[in-house]
Amino acid sequence: MGTRTYKSDEFDRFSEREARRREWYRREMMKKRKALAILCGMGIIAIAVIALAVWGLVAIFSPADTAKTEDSLSKTPSNEISLVDNSTDDTVAFGSDEKKGSVINTPASERGLIVIDPGHGGYDSGIVSSQKYEKEIDFEVAKLLSEKLKDKGFGVYMTRTDDSFVGINERALLANEQEGALALISIHMNSSDKASDEGVEVMTTEDDDNTQLAQLIADEISDTTGAINGGVKIRDNLVICSKAEMPAVIVDCGYLSNKREAQNLCDPSYQEKIASAIAAAVDMYIPEKTK
Ligand SMILES: [Zn+2]
Repeated sequence: MGTRTYKSDEFDRFSEREARRREWYRREMMKKRKALAILCGMGIIAIAVIALAVWGLVAIFSPADTAKTEDSLSKTPSNEISLVDNSTDDTVAFGSDEKKGSVINTPASERGLIVIDPGHGGYDSGIVSSQKYEKEIDFEVAKLLSEKLKDKGFGVYMTRTDDSFVGINERALLANEQEGALALISIHMNSSDKASDEGVEVMTTEDDDNTQLAQLIADEISDTTGAINGGVKIRDNLVICSKAEMPAVIVDCGYLSNKREAQNLCDPSYQEKIASAIAAAVDMYIPEKTK
């Protein structure tokens, strides 16, 4: 009996110890789980903070920032949707005759070189009209202008030769890199909240050469197309005109927000008139002696 009691006692003590051990083990596991959960939570928060920081940096330095082109400075936000649209719609097809790389740049000739800057491009569509994106019309007019200028004996350099995005600072830099560049002509379309607004306007920064070239272009386009002459608009916040080391102007060929004018601006024969008018203005602007 005594042995039995002893054994039973021993067994009870053993099971008590075992129970305590198990309880200790359970608590340790609970502690570990808690620590793990806290660690996981902290990890998730850290990842979120890093992701937010990276997103912030990307937002600050992304091309979308530089995509705010000249016309965005003077137009209503409703027309600028496309400028901050990151849908990266690079697949938007140009017209069938606008194959990539179809624009051939020529080096400076004895008459010099003209830099043509077709507005927007790539994910930056510019103004979205009911018919076409501004970037497409800008490119079509620019391409026609390059042909007209070559016919007049100028070399031509285009800041984009296909539907790709080029930053606003890069455009000015590209122009400055071109030896013998005499002028920079940026092609854009205009837009307004007032559907009746129409006509050609040429924006530039305050400078006699800029103003002279801008006035010639506005007058020539108005005379050739019959569009209302909105004249020269002097702005001090035009990146391209400020950074270009040559006379530089931004031609707002017409209003895409005006139904009738938008139709004209999409019409190849009207585009041809605009291109001819700008080329004629450049021809007058570049002194005869260099001919
Ligand atoms: Zn534009």
